[in-house]
Amino acid sequence: MSLPSRPGLEHVAAYRPGKPAPVGPDGLSAKLSSNENPYDPLPSVAARVQACLPAAINRYPDHGAVAIGEAVAARFGVKYENVVFGSGSVEVAGQIIHAVTGPGDEVMFAWRSFEAYPILVRVAGAVPVEVPLDAHARHDLAAMADAITDRTRLIFVCNPNNPTGTVVDRADFERLLARVPENVVVVVDEAYTHFDRGAESPRGIEYFGKFPNVVVLHTFSKAYGLAGLRVGYAIAPVALADDLRKVSIPFAVSALAQEGALASLEAEGELQERVDQLVAERERMEAKLADLGVACVPSQANFVWLPANERSDELAELFAARGISVRYFPGDGMRISIGLPAENDAVLEVAAKFAA
Ligand code: PMP
Repeated sequence: MSLPSRPGLEHVAAYRPGKPAPVGPDGLSAKLSSNENPYDPLPSVAARVQACLPAAINRYPDHGAVAIGEAVAARFGVKYENVVFGSGSVEVAGQIIHAVTGPGDEVMFAWRSFEAYPILVRVAGAVPVEVPLDAHARHDLAAMADAITDRTRLIFVCNPNNPTGTVVDRADFERLLARVPENVVVVVDEAYTHFDRGAESPRGIEYFGKFPNVVVLHTFSKAYGLAGLRVGYAIAPVALADDLRKVSIPFAVSALAQEGALASLEAEGELQERVDQLVAERERMEAKLADLGVACVPSQANFVWLPANERSDELAELFAARGISVRYFPGDGMRISIGLPAENDAVLEVAAKFAA
């Protein structure tokens, strides 16, 4: 006799995390598969997190995340009531799906995009609608607007897009917003927004409040380097924010995470230097890859996408042999996070071998 299993779960694949790094012949072991920040936490942030011990362990955290909530609200000129936290922005994305969809409702996103979207949507009992990226690996926002039906409840716009690093154009985004009915929620997932130097890139917060259906999704995992603490948030209209709190997991954001996030917001200037270094490294990588003739999609994130297509297996094997883990999509390509300069040099070494 088998145990009960919810009908439909057989179609859901568990989330596939970035692989740990193998060890290369010279001892290099570079984990470039999860878009983490390669730098150690700022000493000021680590000290603030440590100062929460030991009470942060045996006591529950502040359920309302008041200090960090007020700081985020002040940072973006919104109300505390608009800000809802979760255990990483991926949990908040799940809250949004659970709060706005019922069985059979449609959630649209570009594809390829963040791998958690189809999983979260199916787990919620909703229907994922994947709209292919255009020939330049960018969101096809016109096609997304065309794909809206009366079952559409939610649209994710991942900007910059994971895993391609591409961004949407402001004018195209505004045309999309003009075509989306007001009862359809548009979530701008800006996990990588700090790395975006595109002159024409829209920021979700500019549209929040002007459009009653725009929600902004942010994380402390990438630019702020707190992936291991798990904290992300949505900025949402108050009625929706209240619903997100209903479907959220109680105490999902630890006191350590709340304090780390607060300290990081206060240290934004110092963190910016690291973000600038990662952007400079991204630009260096893109220029070198172009010199080598290795195809690379122009990125505005802390990673690059190499559409190696039918040579993907070969390239992935070269990276593994060098001690580098990448996010690999068989037959399609691979996403490589920007690491420390020596790690990026090793990536370029592999690319040169591949090109030769
Ligand atoms: N959105 C996008 C586009 C992502 O790539 C990720 C992380 N891979 C997340 C959200 C979730 O990040 P976290 O849960 O660490 O905030």
